Amino acid sequence: MSDCLWKLPFQGELRRMEPMREHTTMRVGGPADLFLEAQGEEDVVLAWRACRECGVPLTLLGRGSNLLVLDGGIEGLVLSLGEGFAQTRVEGCALYAQAGAKLKALANLALDAGLTGLEFAEGIPGSLGGAAWMNAGAYGGEMAQVVESLRVLDREGRCQTLPVQELAYGYRHSRMMDEGLLVLSAKLRLQPGDRERIGARMQELSRLRREKQPLQYPSCGSFFKRPEGYFAGKLIQDAGLKGARVGDAQISTQHAGFLINLGNASAADVIGLMRLVQKEVYERFFVRLEPEVRIVGRDL
Ligand SMILES: Cc1cc2nc3c(=O)[nH]c(=O)nc-3n(C[C@H](O)[C@H](O)[C@H](O)COP(=O)(O)OP(=O)(O)OC[C@H]3O[C@@H](n4cnc5c(N)ncnc54)[C@H](O)[C@@H]3O)c2cc1C
Repeated sequence: MSDCLWKLPFQGELRRMEPMREHTTMRVGGPADLFLEAQGEEDVVLAWRACRECGVPLTLLGRGSNLLVLDGGIEGLVLSLGEGFAQTRVEGCALYAQAGAKLKALANLALDAGLTGLEFAEGIPGSLGGAAWMNAGAYGGEMAQVVESLRVLDREGRCQTLPVQELAYGYRHSRMMDEGLLVLSAKLRLQPGDRERIGARMQELSRLRREKQPLQYPSCGSFFKRPEGYFAGKLIQDAGLKGARVGDAQISTQHAGFLINLGNASAADVIGLMRLVQKEVYERFFVRLEPEVRIVGRDL
């Protein structure tokens, strides 16, 4: 099924059995059958079309910071949009970036250019594409506030530019999720600002994260979506689950919204812990917690 991919003139290297734990911040999960690190838009379009024609399942990977890969790995091709697809440039108040650009790098680029609006993104360890796809946000900011337009690959394999008004952004939600659109690049609209104030705000947010989040452990950040009217971390803490473990997966004792990997957790451990949390929180508070993290792949 996947043989047809080997003949294609990708600029990036196509590899077999790539360990996905090395590409995700949770550091769990089995291998991808096939793995390609895109080296430009041509690779993305070529891979997309070939997968469609040959019936190969395609999974998009940004920086792997919101992804839980199951222990049996991922069937088909994992298309990674990272370093090879991360060009950026600033023009006036606009910041242009390819999907693989790191949010942190973009926040620093904006700081250097004296542009405000992206300070919230400094500590989010994802790619522009992954963040624009799910409307990542923190400390009162979110991607929907800064995206002016996105260049996307649609389900017919056409590249088109969509203005933010057509992206149906909501809380950790977008049209790209509903329609299976792939984010290729973005134009962000920022505002002129004072470099010192921008830098101070970024440092302040970074300090808050270091104080509140267990950044020394592998994780996917906040594991669950914020249920309306509640905070997931608070519910988990109030259910007495701080420190609870399944294998090497643990509810952080520092921030109960984080499920961390103490070293040798399997994806099955993480899923077991997720189910335990969902059950306990529902039984105590009648609130259903839904994962914010995307769970992909197959069981062993
Ligand atoms: C320590 C820590 C702190 C975090 N803090 C925050 C926070 O404050 N706020 C927040 O919102 N998130 C936070 N996160 C989660 C994560 O960083 C964000 O969700 C980020 O946007 C994910 O981007 P990514 O490139 O890593 O996506 P990935 O994890 O690689 O992928 C996530 C999903 O996006 C899809 N995807 C990726 N790239 C594209 C693309 N170009 N086009 C279409 N689909 C794509 C993937 O297929 C997958 O379904 C945190 C994570 C960690 C580990």
